[in-house]
Amino acid sequence: MDCIFCKIIRGEIPCSKVFENEKFFAFLDIGPVNRGHTLVIPKKHYKNLFDMPEEELKGYMEAIQKVSKAVMKGVDADGVNINMSNESAAGQVVMHAHVHIIPRFKNDGLKLWPQGKYEEGEADKTRKKIVNYL
Ligand code: 5GP
Ligand code: ZN
Repeated sequence: MDCIFCKIIRGEIPCSKVFENEKFFAFLDIGPVNRGHTLVIPKKHYKNLFDMPEEELKGYMEAIQKVSKAVMKGVDADGVNINMSNESAAGQVVMHAHVHIIPRFKNDGLKLWPQGKYEEGEADKTRKKIVNYL
């Protein structure tokens, strides 16, 4: 399959690998937000979170936690942001599921999402729309 992350897993494209177990693989992002920015991916090709079977998720989160702890210590970070973009509207560029571990440093100046606010009644309407599907 012509997927850049599948090629990285197979060793056809070089990467700075930081972790691998039976099901998951982690390597440095080629364009780091901060030094130590790491991607954790399932070895099996899934497009994104919606495509991953439930039985993969516990192991995935365990791998993410394990690698995050190592990133924190390894680059002496003060915190990490863990981000997963799902679908192109959310900024997903590589269509192989991946979680970003972004080390954060006090005063690194990185700004996250701009936040808005709800009009009167809008939060409850929105909540109901979501709850309908649960
Ligand atoms: P997305 O925007 O899909 O959430 O993130 C894709 C990430 O993959 C980007 O942060 C990008 O820098 C990283 N990336 C894309 N191609 C490569 C590559 O060939 N090697 C590595 N190490 N990272 C890559
Ligand atoms: Zn893939």
